[in-house]
Amino acid sequence: MAKALSRSCQPCTACCDGWLQIKVSGLQVHPGKPCPHSTGSGCRIYAARPVDPCVNFICGWKMEGSALPDWMQPHNAKVIFLPNQTVWRNFPVDVAVPVGKRIPPRALNWLQQFAQSNNRMLLYSQQIAEAGTFTNRQRVAAYGPPDFQREMAERFADGNVNLGVIDNGAQNPATGS
Ligand code: SF4
Ligand code: SF4
Repeated sequence: MAKALSRSCQPCTACCDGWLQIKVSGLQVHPGKPCPHSTGSGCRIYAARPVDPCVNFICGWKMEGSALPDWMQPHNAKVIFLPNQTVWRNFPVDVAVPVGKRIPPRALNWLQQFAQSNNRMLLYSQQIAEAGTFTNRQRVAAYGPPDFQREMAERFADGNVNLGVIDNGAQNPATGS
């Protein structure tokens, strides 16, 4: 688990507000259903928030040594970056989940350039909404060499994908500090 650095979450609550799918004290949080303890700029129960997922999770912007610039803080850039989620042919694969329906062009361009310059693969998603309501599903796109794109397209062909699911006990969300 990466250590938090001096960056402070506030006023970001992107990982509390349903853009990552998490369980907080047994309550499912998903797109369109934020954690009830989120104020939109902090956590109402910060001192007593659950360890798992809330204390344990650190997004890629907040990790020690993060390459992401200040403006890429999730509430501002509208993307949550999750580095090193898997490996493809010995290349690290990063994941980017939108805060909202899709990742805005400025943030997506930054992530794609970062992937290209550092020999990293990128999977990123777009939230699927139906009748104006977010579902728990996403469309996934791959950025990298043609083989990577082809393999990911095959893997995600059934559309039953969600890159923003955080398993409690593995990697989790937090806010505040
Ligand atoms: S850990 Fe969560 S609240 Fe903190 S900056 Fe990252 S997404 Fe925002
Ligand atoms: S830190 Fe945890 S309890 Fe607090 S708002 Fe975020 S998800 Fe909810």
